[in-house]
Amino acid sequence: MIPDSVRGELEQALGDRVQFAVPLSRHTSLRVGGPAGAIAAPADRDELARLLGLCSRHGIPHAVLGSGFNAIAPDSGFDGVVIRMNSWRRLEEEADGRLRAESGVSHAQITNFCVERGLSGLEFACGIPGSVGGWIAMNAGIPEREVKDAVLEVEVMEPNGTSQQHLRRDELDFTYRALRGIADGALVLTAPQSALVWLGIQEPTG
Ligand SMILES: Cc1cc2nc3c(=O)[nH]c(=O)nc-3n(C[C@H](O)[C@H](O)[C@H](O)COP(=O)(O)OP(=O)(O)OC[C@H]3O[C@@H](n4cnc5c(N)ncnc54)[C@H](O)[C@@H]3O)c2cc1C
Repeated sequence: MIPDSVRGELEQALGDRVQFAVPLSRHTSLRVGGPAGAIAAPADRDELARLLGLCSRHGIPHAVLGSGFNAIAPDSGFDGVVIRMNSWRRLEEEADGRLRAESGVSHAQITNFCVERGLSGLEFACGIPGSVGGWIAMNAGIPEREVKDAVLEVEVMEPNGTSQQHLRRDELDFTYRALRGIADGALVLTAPQSALVWLGIQEPTG
């Protein structure tokens, strides 16, 4: 249970971007799951860092949820803070043809973006529902191709919010439907941790 004092701090830090006792069934595609102590949707890096710092200081567990297409929450809920990155929707094409996508960018958004610009490289993922953060954490894919084949770099934030780092593809340990091997306790894309994720895709091929 989140103590009242921490609740107050969360409200102060995030305003109406934090809600309490929210059923997780509202945030998973299977519509199952009991209440989360809190669901927080930080607006930017500073807010995310503050939120993670606050959780870490008070020993409140946190978990990250993307679009909830591969998430099942228990009926007992989650006694901590669930972080949603769905307002992180910036998606840009860089001068060299790579994409820079924030973790909350949806599969539909990135697909439409690529179609409009004639960008190639992510066609395999267009039917995999979710967000860029979820794609990367799950190494989403089809038998012929996975996200690991398209990602150039991922940016992650430490679970306690103190720092961020950029990891190149060759520094990441993607495996079947998972991303492993990120520094011990340092973070992110495996279990309940948080991340900012940037995805670079390969240059257009045609
Ligand atoms: C109809 C249907 C078809 C599907 N087809 C495929 C398929 O062909 N191939 C395939 O691989 N999958 C498939 N999936 C599964 C799902 O689409 C993928 O796993 C997708 O990557 C989930 O993304 P999400 O944003 O919904 O992640 P979520 O379900 O919200 O989260 C999944 C995991 O990612 C973590 N996570 C999410 N965002 C972040 C972040 N920013 N930082 C750190 N961790 C994060 C979560 O903590 C959780 O552990 C399918 C699902 C459905 C419902």
